[in-house]
Amino acid sequence: MESNNSSHTRELLSHSCPNLVARISSDLGQTGLHYWTKLGRTQITKSHEACTPGRCNANEAESRHGAVTHVEISCRCAPVGPEMVKVAKIMAANMIPVVAVRGSGKDPYLVVDAYKPGLVFTVISHSYSLSDCFGNSSENKLPTCQVNSIREIISRLPSIGSGTQQHWFWIDTLCVPLQYTRQPSTQQIVAKSMKSISQRATQTIVIDSDILRLTSTSDPKEVFVRIAYCSWSSRLWTLQEAVYAQRLLFHFSDQDVDLDTLMRKYGNLPPEWELAWLSRLPYKKLREFLNARCERRCAGSNNHRLLLLRSLEGRTTSDAVGEPVVLADLLGIDQEAIETRTLLSGSASSTEK
Ligand SMILES: [Zn+2]
Ligand SMILES: [Zn+2]
Repeated sequence: MESNNSSHTRELLSHSCPNLVARISSDLGQTGLHYWTKLGRTQITKSHEACTPGRCNANEAESRHGAVTHVEISCRCAPVGPEMVKVAKIMAANMIPVVAVRGSGKDPYLVVDAYKPGLVFTVISHSYSLSDCFGNSSENKLPTCQVNSIREIISRLPSIGSGTQQHWFWIDTLCVPLQYTRQPSTQQIVAKSMKSISQRATQTIVIDSDILRLTSTSDPKEVFVRIAYCSWSSRLWTLQEAVYAQRLLFHFSDQDVDLDTLMRKYGNLPPEWELAWLSRLPYKKLREFLNARCERRCAGSNNHRLLLLRSLEGRTTSDAVGEPVVLADLLGIDQEAIETRTLLSGSASSTEK
């Protein structure tokens, strides 16, 4: 029986993403790896055939071949999007476009406005993976069913309440015109705007298909494994969104848990998991380094660099223009064309393999 189990685990691992396997065994050892397979693994909706131990290429492969996801596989509802001319105008004026859903559930439509101080809005942070609900690499639209699902999720958030006010939100799929993500000059504008969007948002909610499998009664180890090794935790952009979020919420199937509660409630893991917990959910700590006014050495100090380096493990982006901007920002460096990867490798070995 025992050997059947372990041969089943070996079989599963041989068909798993080699990068995820390498990261989990480095973080949690064989016990963690076994636990991950017992849970049914993470990121199983994507093909990991092109992945190597050094890098997961599943998102890139998917954006070339995948289709937009509906709430139900059999759904064929029409796509909906905001007026992109208006979104582009707001961005050209150096302002933040936000959207809200109006109309009936059968016939929703999106309105656009520019953010003004005092406006309550929520950032929807997702991995942009097509199989994780909210990605669309061919147009600035989402299926009607997904737009309705966003409306419902946001209206239930505690700080938003059920009043008649519009529930404004920002999501890259609808608020960043596709032409902006295709040209280096505009890619840089997008990369630079991300920090201020996260800072101005009232809250940021993380939505990911693996996190959605968690419930309020899930075991702390499961909570950690599903969050740490999901698609959302495998992207560079989402690290920046999480570090600068005023309030970071994770969307479970039956509740939304904020980061502070998560750290308090689930942070009491076995000692061998503790280091992994700190470096896979490093958002608050990284923010403390960046906010530290005490001495100049806080941001960019060795401890800061080492934590950032660990947090970057397994996080990828296909955006070569945006990457240095995001990294420089997470290092607290106000300098654009800097070779940040080189700088990082000065204090420890590089994550790039
Ligand atoms: Zn992979
Ligand atoms: Zn649909």
